[in-house]
Amino acid sequence: MVSQEEIRKKIEEYREWMLDVRHWLHRHPETGDEEYETTAYIEKLLKEMGLRTEKPLPTGVIGILDAENTGGKCIALRADIDALPVQEETELSFRSQRDGFMHACGHDMHMAALLCTARILSDLRDSLTAPVKFLFQPAEETDGGAERMIRAGCLKNPDVDHVLGYHVAPEYPAGTVALRYGYTHASSDMFEIEVLGMKSHGAYPDEGIDAVVAASQIVTAVQSIVSRNIVATDPCVITIGKFHAGSAGNVIADRAELAGTMRTTTPQTRKRAMQRLKETAEGVAAAMGASASVKYRPGYIAQKNDDSVMDIVAETAAECIGEKNIIMKEYPSMGVEDFAFYSGEIPSAFFFVGTGYRNRNNYGIHHGKFEADESALDTAVLMEIMTCLKLMCS
Ligand SMILES: [Zn+2]
Ligand SMILES: [Zn+2]
Repeated sequence: MVSQEEIRKKIEEYREWMLDVRHWLHRHPETGDEEYETTAYIEKLLKEMGLRTEKPLPTGVIGILDAENTGGKCIALRADIDALPVQEETELSFRSQRDGFMHACGHDMHMAALLCTARILSDLRDSLTAPVKFLFQPAEETDGGAERMIRAGCLKNPDVDHVLGYHVAPEYPAGTVALRYGYTHASSDMFEIEVLGMKSHGAYPDEGIDAVVAASQIVTAVQSIVSRNIVATDPCVITIGKFHAGSAGNVIADRAELAGTMRTTTPQTRKRAMQRLKETAEGVAAAMGASASVKYRPGYIAQKNDDSVMDIVAETAAECIGEKNIIMKEYPSMGVEDFAFYSGEIPSAFFFVGTGYRNRNNYGIHHGKFEADESALDTAVLMEIMTCLKLMCS
């Protein structure tokens, strides 16, 4: 296998180029399914490296590096490519050139590192024992580009054995990686509750059925689902973020609309929470003489790492950056990550690369002042390459 020293030298050699790539991408942010310029830019670079490319969706691109030898496992490395409708507030020289849009989630870092990884691995083509696929995937922030990429066949021909991905993490300093076995991100289900009552004059509530009061009781009753119906050690969040009702201050409202999001990790908690929310809304409304109907819209599934792939990620991290720079995450994030769809198909792993500056305030991802310590790109590339090579031979 290629040595870590050899990879470090290559990273050194390509660092300036990788930074230029990141700066270009940062200047040109595009949101989910609009990443046309980004896709063209990436495809051009992949072709220059001698990779085959495929475009299963209108935006996003796959680079395929064919190996000289056979016998190894086919690994896919994934970078999401979309930006956010966030106004950039940094003073960076390479700040966004599009007003109101920014790579505020650091996907420009993911792309730049993966392009550098592709360039280095293409130099090492002679020593590969299986093809490597580079998945530049659209629409992570919107409706789950990962799921559409899979449906369009990104894990087939050549068939992928494992997918590897990561996210930048400003809450950890550059030079570190954060790992977690099992669940790393929650599943997300959006829901809407429609409460129906009966209109009447505000002075004679006894002649109507007040949808505002019934819906308010539902909002309050829902708060006890997590504390009373869900196993205390299993994370669950239920948020009602929207409450619309009524037309005038002196009219009893006949209709209220609630909308919210539910975050869980395990399938049993997800099922239980959905069932209790429905029963609570319908039961409370009935007690108030009203009626309620609950509609669910499933979002991303929960992101769960495969133990044996994670063993290799952890082993690689220890070799590349040392045990003292590995942070074991105690809890999963209640946010979502559409990498979950790859993990749902084949044994895969997702980790976090620290991008925080030491001795300086770090803004979180999705903030207009989010910045990343670019020295983290070296860690990301080293981790991607060394883990990929190890998995290939596993
Ligand atoms: Zn994001
Ligand atoms: Zn992101």
